This record gives sequence, C-alpha cells and structure tokens, in this order.
Amino acid sequence: MTIVPNFQTVVDPQKLEKLAEVAVKVGLRLQPGQDLVITAPIAALSLVRLITKHAYMAGAGIVSTFYSDEETTLARYEYAPDASFDKASDWLYEGMAKAYANGAARLAISGDNPMMLSGQDPSKVARANKANSMAYKPALEKIANFDINWNIVSYPNAAWAKQVFPDVPEEVAVGKLADAIFAASRVDLADPVAAWAEHNGNLRKRSTWLNGERFSALHFTGPGTDLTVGLADGHEWHGGASTAKNGITCNPNVPTEEVFTTPHALRVEGHVSSTKPLSHQGTLIDNIQVKFEGGRIVEAKATKGEEVLNKVLDTDEGARRLGEVALVPHSSPISKSGILFYNTLFDENASCHIALGQCYSKCFLDGASLSQDQIKAQGGNSSLIHIDWMIGSDKVDIDGIRADGARVPVMRKGEWA
Ligand code: ZN
Ligand code: ZN
Repeated sequence: MTIVPNFQTVVDPQKLEKLAEVAVKVGLRLQPGQDLVITAPIAALSLVRLITKHAYMAGAGIVSTFYSDEETTLARYEYAPDASFDKASDWLYEGMAKAYANGAARLAISGDNPMMLSGQDPSKVARANKANSMAYKPALEKIANFDINWNIVSYPNAAWAKQVFPDVPEEVAVGKLADAIFAASRVDLADPVAAWAEHNGNLRKRSTWLNGERFSALHFTGPGTDLTVGLADGHEWHGGASTAKNGITCNPNVPTEEVFTTPHALRVEGHVSSTKPLSHQGTLIDNIQVKFEGGRIVEAKATKGEEVLNKVLDTDEGARRLGEVALVPHSSPISKSGILFYNTLFDENASCHIALGQCYSKCFLDGASLSQDQIKAQGGNSSLIHIDWMIGSDKVDIDGIRADGARVPVMRKGEWA
C-alpha cells in the first residue's frame, strides 16, 4: 500500500494560498452564485481545499471536485478486460456539459505524472484516449468554444517534480517545482492580482498590433524550418485575459505568455522542426519533423515517440491540420527559467508554437456568433484533439505576410521585431 505523500512542508503555504486566490479572482473571475467544477490529481488536495475556500469567499454556488489518481489509472491498464479500453465515463462528461450549460465555471488542476502511461501498450492508450475524447466532446466544446469562464493552474506532483529535477531528492524536487510554478504564475510577487492586470495589458498591446496588421500568413524560418502558416479568414489574435460568451473576462491559462490565433486549415505549406520535446499523455515525442501540403501533414517523423505521434495524427482528419498558431518571445520568464516542464501549460509559454487539431472559435472576428459551418468555411479546423508543440527558439525568424505579398518583420531571433 502506498500513501499519497505529503510534501506540504516544502510547498510554501502562503504562495499556495496566493495561487488559489489568483485562480479564483484572475483565472476564473468567479461570479457570486456561480457553480464551479474542478478536476484535480489527488496529490493536489491541499490546493483544491484552498481554491474551494476562495471560491466560496467569492460567493460560489456549489463547488464540485473530481479527483484522478495514478495508481487507479494504472490498475485499469494492468487488470481491466480488453473491451474496457473502448469505454469512457460518458455519464460524467454529460453531467459536466450540463453543469456548464447551466452556467458553471470550470477549473482544472494539472500536475499528473507526465510519464504515467509510458510503459503501457500504445494501442490501448490510443483507444482509451479516443473513447475519452469522444465522450468528453460535449463538455470540451463548451470550453473550446469559450461558452464559459475557465482556468487551468498547476500543482507540483512528486512524480512530475522528479521528472523535471531528476538529480535531487524527491522532496527537494517538489520544492523546486513549486517555486517554478509560483514564479511562472506570478504569485511570488507582492500583489499577484495587480501583476496579472499589468501582464494582461502588455499581451493586449501585442494582440492589438497583430489584429491591426491583418496578416494573411506568417512565415517561420530557422534550423529545419521553412513554414508558411496561412491565417484563417477573419482570424482574430487573443492573449491574456479574454471574455467568454457568458460575459465573464477570465484568464484561461495560468501561466500564460502567448498571443495566438487560428491558422487556415487548408493553407499551411512547408516543413517544420520542433524545438522542444512534446510530452503527450505519458510519451515523450522528440525532434518532430513534419511536412505540410495544402494544410495537411503528409509526412511526420520523430527521433523518439514516432509511433505515438503517427497514432495521434490518425485520430481523425482534422488531427493532421493546424488549429492554433501562437507567438511567445524567447525571453519569456518561463523560457528564461531554462526548465523543461514536460507540461504543455508551461512549455508552450516558453516558445512559439502550433497546435494540431481543434481551433478556438473565439479566435475569429465575431467568433461567438459564427456557426460551425461558417468557421469551417473561413478555414477553422475541427478535431477531437488539440495538441500544442513548440517550434520557436532564439534561432527562428518570423515575417508577417500581407494580402499584397508585402513582408513585415514580426520576430527576429525569437524576439518581437
Ligand atoms: Zn497556445
Ligand atoms: Zn493550444
């Protein structure tokens, strides 16, 4: 028997409380009377308790939390009958979708062991993921379409910390990862809520400039990369705080350093190399090299995890096309920390990135009023997946290309031009 280890002594309780406050006041901007659905690894119990306290202090209606646990997940892979891997708890996701339709906000605490499923049969992992993605779709759509205010924050789970800091004892690793999460989430500052207001203002300046330029494409060049990413018709750049369809302005990701928009699903050409490993549901996929033709990935290689990458690309037709392009300066605090977090929430904020799969409807002008057919007609991609991977570095240049073909420097050597 294993008891969930308690590392509260190495996780600064004041900063943890500030993280809970930022999640409720900045991340969610939870409204009086609003219900809240939380998903969290069991190791994050102390953070869940603090978030729940701050949610009720902010006037929450009902806070409901659903926990995940590594050992129970692995028990399924070890003992469940084969047919189990095509099943998912659809009743649970239907309930979540109903809660969101009734106005609940959603908070996810990330921090699962990124290598949890690395020793498992990749085809079982792929089947379980697919069943889960299909069952989750009604709930995910409400989040991806930004119907509701939502937020993700992180907690330093021990297995995750050991992967990020393999050379120090577990307790030290948890403390170091906690400090890195607190710094990236700006809760090590005296007034985190004010710091977030200033940061959101800076991100808004960038997205306002890009929206004024109305580029038809971005051209990325660097080692192993010569990629033209056409932007969707009527695309809109976002970054930092933004307003959900329910009228609440929230910060979906804590931390966040990116400005991002929707590529055109049919207008991506050239080849691109990843600049950081991608940790995808337990497998590390490294040195990705893909080739696009007419927006579609026609060739995909990786020095590590290639089989998993190709299974991901076969999820559905939209899995081979882009749903997001995002710009992050190489000098972002997360990039400067030099830490590879093996966690998309952090790693995507260290580097320019693209995402395979589902687009965000909010990244269109007047996106809230567009139908799925209109979004598709304007170049928006749809898929069961949305997977970000990093293509930026201090060696990558980006030009904006206007409709008349004129080029404008956007980034040079990884920094805003
Ligand atoms: Zn992104
Ligand atoms: Zn993304």
